Amino acid sequence: MSKIKEVIKEENFFDILGKTRNPKGDKILDILNKASRKKGLTLEDVGYLVNTDNPNLIKKMFSTAGKIKREIYGERLVFFAPLYVSSFCVNDCEYCGFHVRNKAPRKKLTIKEVGEQVRILEDMGHKRLLLEFGEHSKKNPIGYVVDVIKTIYKTKSGRGSIRRVNVNIAATTTENYQKLKTAGIGTYQLFQETYHRETYEAMHHGLKADYERQLFAHDRAFAGGIDDVGLGVLFGLYDWQFEVLGLVSHAQYLDKKFGVGPHTFSVPRFQPADTANLELSYRVSEDELLKIIAILRMAVPYTGMIISTRERPEIRAKAFEIGISQTSAASRTSPGGYGMEDTNLEQFHTADHRSVEKVLESIMDQDLLPSFCTACYRSGRTGKKFIELAKPGNIRNFCRPNAILTFKEYLLDYASDSVRKEGERIIQKYLNQIPDKQRKDKTVKRIVRLENGERDLYF
Ligand code: SF4
Ligand code: SF4
Repeated sequence: MSKIKEVIKEENFFDILGKTRNPKGDKILDILNKASRKKGLTLEDVGYLVNTDNPNLIKKMFSTAGKIKREIYGERLVFFAPLYVSSFCVNDCEYCGFHVRNKAPRKKLTIKEVGEQVRILEDMGHKRLLLEFGEHSKKNPIGYVVDVIKTIYKTKSGRGSIRRVNVNIAATTTENYQKLKTAGIGTYQLFQETYHRETYEAMHHGLKADYERQLFAHDRAFAGGIDDVGLGVLFGLYDWQFEVLGLVSHAQYLDKKFGVGPHTFSVPRFQPADTANLELSYRVSEDELLKIIAILRMAVPYTGMIISTRERPEIRAKAFEIGISQTSAASRTSPGGYGMEDTNLEQFHTADHRSVEKVLESIMDQDLLPSFCTACYRSGRTGKKFIELAKPGNIRNFCRPNAILTFKEYLLDYASDSVRKEGERIIQKYLNQIPDKQRKDKTVKRIVRLENGERDLYF
């Protein structure tokens, strides 16, 4: 068996999609029942779900997925911000504004500019960043990436600090992953973009065109000591039903091989960018995106799921109800973009332009609990330790108090009066729902310590 087939068996995916067409209602209800037990689903189960068009069954899928999310992670929604560090790239990916054929001027942040961008993000209340770099061994060598990470952790504005740096760099060597690990990264995110090999090869030119290099990058990251990895697909490049099977199959492979499935799934849909306005044959609608999110939540229930500002606020709000556990807010997708009116070259255009405050207001209207938590990574709850807590749903016993404490910090340091008032209501509501009395009392004591000026308290 070829190495690729250990992860992705294309013929098998097509067989599954063929034989699960037009599923009966009873079959879907059985699968939803199975999903409720939070042990995950087989590829065949996923085939039946992606082939479901009945609106009533889709509604049931959404409510099952939403319940699973709440049972594992609780009502919290974790915030992060992307930080685009360099738009220099040697690759020519058809869908990306940073592709080498775009002759627009490029930008790479100096270390001083990294500090300036980080201070702006800290003043917005962010605690968790996702770094984005194009692939360019001369402009963005690993030493530069490491210097950027170190600078971010060192930079403080007022009471602000960045406490977790997740990184998205091109597929690289085990030695380079070791360097990222030593620099203290949280999650290493790398998207396959499309699991369909022929499409992958048509969409990519340059170093990234090597399907196998991309597919096994997470294996090399594990070999380099990184134990939290994120997977993703750029929806719209190929048939979304196939791609969902690809993501689930990749997750099952990592779980089997390393005992640790992916820490996160990302579900971006293609958005046009400067010189990258693709005519898509496989455009994914907003309704299909919501279905994708619900199915992934049921198929791999312990994995966090991220939605970005590529999506409109209305769709993001629906996605928060059915399985999303992390989101960005007020993002800029160009290096140096924060604090600027005219941005440099963007990787893609965003569709949600609201401030952090506005996004917080709307998620509080949904009775969700905003979180700026980074506690697991800093308490050594990564890799297997994290998954062992997440699989049985015990992680929410950490998520809720930590969300309360980090949101309280936000309210004290950054919020307007109206957000503070509504935030206190949400905090009180979920404080009352901490089931363990001891944990609840400790949370109350820590809230008082925050009010008295301490920061960075977590479980
Ligand atoms: Fe470069 Fe990544 Fe854009 Fe491809 S997707 S052109 S590798 S920045
Ligand atoms: Fe994430 Fe862990 Fe914090 Fe929960 S407790 S929000 S899983 S870092």
